[in-house]
Amino acid sequence: ADEDSASVTVPLPSTLTSSRENRWNDTNSYGSKKKLQSWLQLPNGDWELVNIITASGAESVISLPDGKVLKVKEDNLVPANPDILDGVDDLMQLSYLNEPAVLFNLQYRYNQDMIYTKAGPVLVAVNPFKKVPLYGNDYIEAYKCKAIESPHVYAITDTAIREMIRDEVNQSIIISGESGAGKTETAKIAMQYLAALGGGSGIENEILKTNPILEAFGNGKTLRNDNSSRFGKLIEIHFSETGKISGANIQTFLLEKSRVVQCNEGERSYHIFYQLCAGAPSSLREKLNLLSAEEYKYLRQSNCYSISGIDDAEEFRIVKEALDIVHISKGDQENVFAMLAAVLWLGNISFTVVDNENHVEAVEDEGLFTVAKLIGCEIEDLKLTFSTRKMKVGNDNIVQKLTLSQAIDARDALAKSIYACLFDWLVEQINKSLAVGKRRTGRSISILDIYGFESFNRNSFEQFCINYANERLQQHFNRHLFKLEQEEYIQDGIDWAKVEFEDNQDCLNLFEKKPLGLLSLLDEESTFPNGTDLTFANKLKQHLNSNSCFKGEREKAFTVRHYAGEVTYDTSGFLEKNRDLLHLDSIQLLSSSKCHLPKLFASHMLTQSEKPVVGPLHKSGGADSQKLSVATKFKDRTHTDSTIAVCKSENGSNEGQLFQLMQRLESTTPHFIRCIKPNNLQSPGSYEQSLVLQQLRCCGVLEVVRISRSGFPTRVSHQKFARRYGFLLLENVASQDPLSVSVAILHQFNILPEMFQVGYTKLFFRTGQIGVLEDTRNRT
Ligand code: ATP
Ligand code: MG
Repeated sequence: ADEDSASVTVPLPSTLTSSRENRWNDTNSYGSKKKLQSWLQLPNGDWELVNIITASGAESVISLPDGKVLKVKEDNLVPANPDILDGVDDLMQLSYLNEPAVLFNLQYRYNQDMIYTKAGPVLVAVNPFKKVPLYGNDYIEAYKCKAIESPHVYAITDTAIREMIRDEVNQSIIISGESGAGKTETAKIAMQYLAALGGGSGIENEILKTNPILEAFGNGKTLRNDNSSRFGKLIEIHFSETGKISGANIQTFLLEKSRVVQCNEGERSYHIFYQLCAGAPSSLREKLNLLSAEEYKYLRQSNCYSISGIDDAEEFRIVKEALDIVHISKGDQENVFAMLAAVLWLGNISFTVVDNENHVEAVEDEGLFTVAKLIGCEIEDLKLTFSTRKMKVGNDNIVQKLTLSQAIDARDALAKSIYACLFDWLVEQINKSLAVGKRRTGRSISILDIYGFESFNRNSFEQFCINYANERLQQHFNRHLFKLEQEEYIQDGIDWAKVEFEDNQDCLNLFEKKPLGLLSLLDEESTFPNGTDLTFANKLKQHLNSNSCFKGEREKAFTVRHYAGEVTYDTSGFLEKNRDLLHLDSIQLLSSSKCHLPKLFASHMLTQSEKPVVGPLHKSGGADSQKLSVATKFKDRTHTDSTIAVCKSENGSNEGQLFQLMQRLESTTPHFIRCIKPNNLQSPGSYEQSLVLQQLRCCGVLEVVRISRSGFPTRVSHQKFARRYGFLLLENVASQDPLSVSVAILHQFNILPEMFQVGYTKLFFRTGQIGVLEDTRNRT
């Protein structure tokens, strides 16, 4: 017992006894020499640990760490856990599973570089923003032979491997969190562990080398993360019968194309552009007529060229080496660099007004000539692409001249599509290399690194797609947890009906319902020639206002109640981004090319647009959803204004891709890792409670906690329980078997029947029960 002279003997404060968490104590009061602690919520929302001096009714007298004594409302206090639970490695071991307890526990561990903590089946990873001594071969070996059991990405990956082999079921590791939280690093750490299993013929090394390539082409510096992934990625790693790596396959999602032509002050476009400008050897510079990054308009606009601690030239060398390793020939590499240079030079093409109706033409300068050379087309054709648009009206072909803004749009659209096609092509080449000649056994572990839920001051189409994807993943998460819980209860003979779960199906319905859901209405409006962002917004308000997850806002805005919170979207640009049009003239330009890649991209754009890519989202979706295929749009549009959807309608493809992704994931056993960013400064040592709390909410960790609280989260075997608390028994129990002892303890402490369940092997408790037993035990 605590003999601290400053502590006073007080009855257990009502804050601790009246809460539903330990109601049994209402009938028990006993003295204590131990300081009783609670969490007090400060006006700024943060929590502070305080000592309870007295508690009576609605008010308590407490003392703050600095000695100040205050009277506070009981409502502002939340019970704190006993000291022995400080820094437990699984949040579920906490007796009081409240928000401050979770926050404090993570912080306690974080301060000691223990960045990993379990929340039941979920691994929480708090970004250390510094090197922590937790990785490398020694650790990998230790986790492999289970010499270390503390939570770690290695441990979760090891579990995935074991379950894949034991259950003969494919596994997935689903990593989420907001930008800068550490998803990509975590994915690499998991890949490192898998690679250590080996595979032979260097396949594991090849898999690891896909990271520098994809990061160079798909990551850029943003205000929130110097190495921000601007795409989602699923890498599926295949295994042979002997448990060795036999190959892999990568699928990417939602590449942010706009970054190629536009990025904010202080951010950068994709790393590869700067790497190329800084690292290309002189022969290549000459061939591509390469300048320094500062001389390209696309790169100049954000006024940011370097990243502290990063040497772009050195990174370029690493990327080239990686391209060699994934078997991309020197010739192909040069073609790739030529396409990058073409994109950069496209941005330098400028226009001049040629008539009094403000029609423009491209200026014949170095930019235009270099682009023509790099794309392998005629200068005249290139000029024409940016000054006119061929249209079919009735049976007549007419040529419309372009204004400055139309010409710039056409130019930027071409730059974006070339880059997006290049990215897809690279992934395809990598996949060929990772699959070559490898026999598939069908066993795999997939790692998903995808943007987390986003909510900014202004939310656009990108956030709409990302948040929809997250809503889907959240459902997957909920259902999985539900299933796990259910299995454990049933296994131990517990009455399952006493546990309640919530689902986010209503919000998903808002997106997915046909024909009156957000996605259907968006697709529909996108196909109307006269549809605008405003007509779209109005249509949403007209049809969805009765939906409880939807709220119409002023003008072009609407709000969705996501599982992680409300987000207001501004529909400006929604239709254009969803249509994602590229003029047929531009595709024709590429197909006229003498070069391999542009020709390939052109045919890719055409075939993609012919395929119905708006796959059925619901498994029963069938025929009706096919109507909205881009093929239909293609057919209709070429007759009106000869623009077609490039590659795939962005929303359409997301929807289709997302459906595919979910299907793939649903056939696997998932393992969840939630990455948390402890501060917005990308700096070590700082832990901002409110920031962490908001992420814990968004990524569902508090949901796990909530789900568990609604069930019986504390589970102790009969033996353990009897051993730990048996000595508290006041009367002898006739039979000394653990179950009888346990039941006697429960009885003596008047634990209410609805607060626990007795299973075959374990006792199941509602939150807070063990905390009280612990307190008693410590006082005795
Ligand atoms: P985005 O959504 O923007 O792609 P992300 O979640 O993928 O963000 P990362 O790029 O993985 O974030 O991490 C951001 C930075 O945090 C890394 O560049 C690295 O500096 C640091 N970091 C993340 N995880 C770790 C770790 N386990 N150890 C050390 N540093 C880390
Ligand atoms: Mg990332």
